[in-house]
Amino acid sequence: MKLIRTLSIAAAAGALIFSGGAGAQDKGTVGVSMPTKSSARWISDGDSMVKSLKDKGYKADLQYADDDIPNQLAQVENMITKKVKVLVIAAIDGTTLSNALQKAADAGIKVIAYDRLIKGSKNVDYYATFDNFQVGVLQASSIVDKLGLKQGKGPFNIELFGGSPDDNNAFFFYDGAMSVLKPYIDSGKLVVRSKQMGMDKVGTLRWDGAVAQARMDNLLSAFYGNARVDAVLSPYDGLSIGILSSLKGVGYGTPKQPMPVVSGQDAEVASVKSMLRGEQSSTVFKDTRELAKVTVNMIDQMLSGKKVDINDTKTYNNGVKVVPSYLLKPVSVDLSNWKPVLIDSGYYKESQIK
Ligand code: BGC
Repeated sequence: MKLIRTLSIAAAAGALIFSGGAGAQDKGTVGVSMPTKSSARWISDGDSMVKSLKDKGYKADLQYADDDIPNQLAQVENMITKKVKVLVIAAIDGTTLSNALQKAADAGIKVIAYDRLIKGSKNVDYYATFDNFQVGVLQASSIVDKLGLKQGKGPFNIELFGGSPDDNNAFFFYDGAMSVLKPYIDSGKLVVRSKQMGMDKVGTLRWDGAVAQARMDNLLSAFYGNARVDAVLSPYDGLSIGILSSLKGVGYGTPKQPMPVVSGQDAEVASVKSMLRGEQSSTVFKDTRELAKVTVNMIDQMLSGKKVDINDTKTYNNGVKVVPSYLLKPVSVDLSNWKPVLIDSGYYKESQIK
């Protein structure tokens, strides 16, 4: 009996200590609206957000919108009705949330644009993201390096793919990539046989891999009947996988007809495996754990009236205001560094990849 009492006192003391720790305080609920579960990165973003919020004493209301704009709108409105403290939104379409965000502002709810800029609204308090222009620079630089363009090799044929035109990031990725590729295109060292250039021609609605695959099929049959495509600029791993399937379909990926150089983004498992098979050439890793940490710091600093950490006040004009931002650094990944970057950092277990 005495033993049991002692134990239960000890347990109660333990519980007290625990509730005194940051993890168990209740600082209220934060609404987290994510675009889709069809890409692993957003699942990882959601999980990391829930964990980082919990670590700082917040609850999370995490919703995924299946890449459906009305669905995301309904989920965000529901969070506003439930009076969350802060809304964290990775928008499907960056232009469709203005009315809801006005309601949020009227209810005193702060808004953070997560990874993707929310456009056309003054009610966006902060933006947490990566250096999106740099993502494009890294994608194109990996193509330049692997083709040996700096060593004077070429000319080579290249085709260009862009991301979803309703996602502001897609333009930054494309512009960043073109800042590297354009001089080679102008000098004739890179040739776009299809002449399809510019986001209006190369964009891929909703980042859909099947759409990219279909466009690659068309490009190959219309422009590469008796020519080889040497490189494909792809802004996202999900598109790269579609593009690679299309290439395999017409015989690329053999010793006689090796794969072109194909870029990517997000270091998704399927693409890391593809790199190990010698198919996709590179990807860009964006540590979603870090993005979640930066975002939760912003939340905590905002709600406690502290100065919010930002490192960019001029890049992200959403059409109404320049949104104060924190930009994290993306990392280029290929066969030379995937292990230290993705495995040693604990982002993936090696068993997930092999
Ligand atoms: C993100 C990328 C992602 C893409 C497709 C972009 O907004 O920044 O990391 O590849 O959406 O999900």
